[in-house]
Amino acid sequence: MRITDNRYAGELSKFDLAMRMIQHEARTGTIKACTGFSEDRVRKIYSTYFKGENGLKVRRKRGKSPSQITRFVSSARRQTEATVLACLFLYFDLVTLNQRGRVMRNESIDMTTMGQRLCRAYENYLLIQPDPRLSFEWAWNLYHCLAHNHELYLAWCDDCGSPYVQDTYALDYRRCPFCELADQQAAGQKA
Ligand SMILES: [Zn+2]
Repeated sequence: MRITDNRYAGELSKFDLAMRMIQHEARTGTIKACTGFSEDRVRKIYSTYFKGENGLKVRRKRGKSPSQITRFVSSARRQTEATVLACLFLYFDLVTLNQRGRVMRNESIDMTTMGQRLCRAYENYLLIQPDPRLSFEWAWNLYHCLAHNHELYLAWCDDCGSPYVQDTYALDYRRCPFCELADQQAAGQKA
C-alpha cells in the first residue's frame, strides 16, 4: 500500500466513525476528540448527510457531555446497566485491568480505534440490555470515569464473584447490583 492509500484509508475510517457517532447522537466535541476532525468538518458531515428531507434523521445534542457519576450508581438497575457497559469495554479491549484490578485505558490504541471500539461496545449494549437508558454520551462519560479520572472502579461481589461498577468515594458493601435485584425480585414474589 502506498502512503497516499494509507492516508486515504485513515481518512475514510475517521469519516465512517464520525457518521457512526452522529447516528448515536454523539456531541460534536466527542466526535472531534475521536476523529481529530475540526468542529466545522463535523458540522458539515452532519448537514450533508443528516439534514433535509432525504437526510438520515438524528437528534443533535448541544453543550457539554454529561458528567455526574451518580447516574451510574444511584440504583441497582442503573448500576447494572453501567456494569454491562463496563464489561463490554473490557471485552472489546477499550480498557484493560492492571495487576491491581484497576481499569486502565488501552494505551496501545489510537483515538480513532478507541472511538470504533466504543461504538461497538455501545451497539452491543443496545442489543443485550432490555430497555437501555444510557445514551452514547453517558457511555463516553462512563469510559472516562472508569479509565481516566477513576471516580468509578470495578468492585467484586462476595456472593457471586462478579464485577460491578462502584463509586470510588462511597462505601462498598461488596454486593453486586445483580444479586441486589435478584433479592428485590424474590422479596416481591413473596409479598
Ligand atoms: Zn453478586
